[in-house]
Amino acid sequence: MEITETRISLVGRPNSRLRAYASVTFDDVFVVRDIRIIEGKKGLFVAMPSKKMQRDCPKCGFKNPITNRFCGSCGTTLNPVEEKEFVPSQQHRDLAHPIKTEFREYLQHKILEEYDLENGKH
Ligand SMILES: [Zn+2]
Repeated sequence: MEITETRISLVGRPNSRLRAYASVTFDDVFVVRDIRIIEGKKGLFVAMPSKKMQRDCPKCGFKNPITNRFCGSCGTTLNPVEEKEFVPSQQHRDLAHPIKTEFREYLQHKILEEYDLENGKH
């Protein structure tokens, strides 16, 4: 699988670690948007688009963050979630992500390369 196009939208927000959004096209036929380029402690890294885990209130159907103990809409007590669900890495779930390490590295390299080019123009 090849990356055939990478588009970068720079985010010029002070005090934010988010540097840019990327949209990546694979083999000219499939695109993934909202990939984030983030300034981490060890340099830039790429975060895949993710979804915050939610659950529906049994009474009113409102979507609450998984860690909420009460419904944000009607105040109903929500069943305590199992402890394993409080693991921070499980509060967000990637919507699309590379499975193989080599492809993850290839993807990150391509995105950061394009980011540097885009950044150089400004
Ligand atoms: Zn509710």
